Amino acid sequence: MRILVTGGAGFIGSHLIDRLMADSHEVICLDNFYTGHKRNVVKWLGHPRFELIRHDITEPIRLEVEQIYHLACPASPIHYQYNPVKTIKTNVIGTMHMLGLAKRVKARFLLASTSEVYGDPEVHPQTEDYRGNVNPIGIRSCYDEGKRTAETLAFDYHRQNQVDIRVARIFNTYGPRMLENDGRVVSNFVVQALRGNPLTIYGDGSQTRSFCFVSDLVDGLMRLMNQDHIGPINLGNPDEYTILQLAETIQNMIDPHTPLQFFPLPQDDPRRRQPDITRAQTMLAWNPLIPLLAGLEMTIADFRERQVPSHSSFSKDGVSLVV
Ligand code: NAD
Ligand code: UDP
Repeated sequence: MRILVTGGAGFIGSHLIDRLMADSHEVICLDNFYTGHKRNVVKWLGHPRFELIRHDITEPIRLEVEQIYHLACPASPIHYQYNPVKTIKTNVIGTMHMLGLAKRVKARFLLASTSEVYGDPEVHPQTEDYRGNVNPIGIRSCYDEGKRTAETLAFDYHRQNQVDIRVARIFNTYGPRMLENDGRVVSNFVVQALRGNPLTIYGDGSQTRSFCFVSDLVDGLMRLMNQDHIGPINLGNPDEYTILQLAETIQNMIDPHTPLQFFPLPQDDPRRRQPDITRAQTMLAWNPLIPLLAGLEMTIADFRERQVPSHSSFSKDGVSLVV
């Protein structure tokens, strides 16, 4: 099959491309390299079944493909908040262009939506029929509301134009290839510990997240794409940890003497998050397989291999100064 992956040079997209290439598909990777990088797909450059296109999805494009995995959108709060208007344009105008493309060429279209559509949830764990608790005017809204609109667009193109859609609600995913300056919690803590810098905990660390290893997530995306259920469907690992537990785990794995430092909790930071994955288990026969410790070991090994330099491009709160 000829398959388009938007955001294919990013963290999840590049792992997905590795799997699609291994399965002998023709793959078109489309990316504007905002948070993605050519090095993530460099091993496929020159391969007869692989094409790389530098393109911004806020502009239309014409391509002939059979499936579209639509992942293009910065996922880390520091990156999506750097230019919030652009984030909304990517989610709304960009998704409309990709749905328009799917409609024209009759391609199956999978939207990488997010657990952020549940906002700061009052229902725990989150099931797909929970409608969420999202602030429409906060600093996370460009992403949360952008993705909610992207879901609306997908379902309207489905109802009005019979576009064959799939909607995945992805929960916090981590693994090798995350950027050193990604800004999300797993990469921040690992990079900080490897550099001997304090781990930056926002708030008191009692907020929770559930962390899914990237290979499990990619498996879930491919199952969703190739089965009949259109979603929305939660994809995440239901093992829930406080951020303090995560910090202590990474501290113990890298250097138990690494200090912990506490900073104010960012605005609208969800207090807790855990997927109910009954739907994915029953509809897709999907279960995450990699437990946190094993996933962290692979992630730490990857950052070690990349030899995270000891000079720091981080501000004192662990957030990259250069985007
Ligand atoms: P990422 O930032 O590594 O990848 C996003 C990719 O999209 C990058 O390569 C970036 O350059 C590209 N991109 C951004 N805006 C673009 C535009 N306008 N035109 C073309 N390309 C553009 O993030 P990721 O973690 O790989 O996330 C991939 C997708 O999964 C995103 O849609 C994200 O919202 C979703 N998601 C991720 C997580 C997670 O924990 N990683 C959780 C929920 C949802
Ligand atoms: N967080 C933290 N220190 C960091 C980065 C993040 O304590 O250096 C917290 C953040 O406030 C949030 C959780 O970790 O409560 C997960 O943050 P991330 O940005 O990874 O994902 P999201 O908030 O989008 O789920």
